[in-house]
Amino acid sequence: MNYCSACGAPVTKKVPEGDNLPRFVCEICRAIHYHNPKIVAGCIPEWGGEILLCRRAIEPKSGLWTFPAGFMEIGESIEQAAARETLEEAQAQVERISLFAVLSLPHIGQAYLVFRGPMSSPNFGAGEESLEAQLFSLSAVPWDQIAFPVVKDVLRRYVDDVTRGEFQVHVASLPDRLC
Ligand SMILES: [Zn+2]
Repeated sequence: MNYCSACGAPVTKKVPEGDNLPRFVCEICRAIHYHNPKIVAGCIPEWGGEILLCRRAIEPKSGLWTFPAGFMEIGESIEQAAARETLEEAQAQVERISLFAVLSLPHIGQAYLVFRGPMSSPNFGAGEESLEAQLFSLSAVPWDQIAFPVVKDVLRRYVDDVTRGEFQVHVASLPDRLC
């Protein structure tokens, strides 16, 4: 950040009084500009023992597979964000979704909240940000073509839970090299 978004003056990075981390501070209007982690809402849509993945049409990682996921918007709940991303990226409706994983990516300032739940119907398709959407059996997940380490981590946990026959809520942090 170079300029204050409130008044347009140059900002300096320093630790504000009473704080313990450096922030971008405006010397003119005194605004303190906090940069905090972003929340990513994701969903693993389920249908007949298979899961719905989509192939990214946008960078980064265009051409690789992920479950629907994206940044939460102001004005929506995290469940609404997960369902919205599912509709936008895979043109699928999910119902009664359950929290499945909370994964922190401290080094890039993100937290993934991933849900899972049944699709309302077998209808799906490629949204604007996807090249295609496809149902995968758990033995056919394209592990070497998954877009991000966090997505692979969540999918492995999902497959493990299905194999064990019981879902749990996973809470974990991904190490630096995996972010
Ligand atoms: Zn300012």
